[in-house]
Amino acid sequence: MGQPSVVIQPPEKRLGNFREVSLGYPKKIVGDEAQRCPQCADALCTFGCPLGVDIPSFIRLLREGKTAEALKKIREQNPLPAICGRLCPAPCEKACILTKEDAPIGVRALERYAADAGRERLTARPHVCKGKKIAIIGSGPTGLTAAAELAKQDFQVTIFEAMEEPGGLLRYGIPEFRLPADVLNGEIHSLQNLGIEIKTNALFSKRENVKRLFQEGFAAILLTLGGGRPVFPDMPGLNLGGVYFAQEFLMRARHFKAERIMRDPYATNIGNRIVVIGSNHAALDCARIAARLGREATVVFPHIEDEMKAVQLELREAKAEGVKIDPLTKPLAIVGNDKSLARGVKCQHMDFADPHSNGQWQLIPVVESEFTIEADTVIVALGQQRNEMIEELVGSEGVFVPEQSASTEGNVVNAIAAGKKIAFQISEYLKK
Ligand code: SF4
Repeated sequence: MGQPSVVIQPPEKRLGNFREVSLGYPKKIVGDEAQRCPQCADALCTFGCPLGVDIPSFIRLLREGKTAEALKKIREQNPLPAICGRLCPAPCEKACILTKEDAPIGVRALERYAADAGRERLTARPHVCKGKKIAIIGSGPTGLTAAAELAKQDFQVTIFEAMEEPGGLLRYGIPEFRLPADVLNGEIHSLQNLGIEIKTNALFSKRENVKRLFQEGFAAILLTLGGGRPVFPDMPGLNLGGVYFAQEFLMRARHFKAERIMRDPYATNIGNRIVVIGSNHAALDCARIAARLGREATVVFPHIEDEMKAVQLELREAKAEGVKIDPLTKPLAIVGNDKSLARGVKCQHMDFADPHSNGQWQLIPVVESEFTIEADTVIVALGQQRNEMIEELVGSEGVFVPEQSASTEGNVVNAIAAGKKIAFQISEYLKK
């Protein structure tokens, strides 16, 4: 029977807007797909989910038409189901027992349906927490999750966010066509009902400011600052005009409102031919924004497509939008013109070395294969370095840092899992 496809906004239409590309499953498909679930007693899918969502139970509730209850069941383990239903790479589906004989259950799309349809039916009265005070700096997926877990235990949680709206990477690092703002706002609103306070425009640029929070009565501080400076490749030409880093490009696209950018090309000031260096989600997102602005976009990276960090579905959709993917292409330098503006990216082909030379496959540059891809804008999307303030504060009494911050390369479900784990550590610390 196979896994049903989600409804997709057709490429020719979506290239003219920034609205969500994937529209999820319609109600009829949800019913059919929920029926296909074998309801395993020892569900491999639940073991495959980094959050331990009770997948058979929520699917059974969907099957019975109990959408709000299905959402409640998911929220027991996952505070951001509408976001995971869109962005999670769904390791649960790889673990599904049906993978061997047919196709895995479309868990991610079912989760999205439960989140979108169930939220309208769930009413929650705002809760007031009375326990010890906890400060969380940063409102990305890790910070939001930790806040939810701690508020559920009645701790008084305040999130401090440097930007004017909460969400961190989810708001400023992911374009609307993958995560609409109203979906994110809905999830944050649900968390606020747990009693979480969110203060925006609250920038902590020095460690002294962070430590002052203890004097204000906070018993623990969690730093979920996300990425710091971009990763700078060892590559000539980074300082040329027309070279962006992915995070600034994505933030600009989101901040200036996508629809306005389409009317006002100076909001991004990009050329007609764009080369994106990198193979993560951010690289594909930048290229897909460029495609919506009517530009030619090429993504280059030195390995094979299967090793891309982006989800395969996103890769397929990027190609359908006309984004050119050049794997096995190693960027060597950004070359400029006499006005110090980028005019191209010098690259070299990569190929597999003789497997017998050392017993395993490896990629090596092909001799004398250099060539230049013409480009007037180059976007470097190689991820971000760890925020320096974290290094200064890590190890201080009462200050907590999650194992993984949500970087542009990190995936959302791992960021949420990190939030759950660090919340547990904080709660144990405060119970001492
Ligand atoms: S959070 Fe991700 S891994 Fe877990 S059930 Fe949802 S889609 Fe699957």
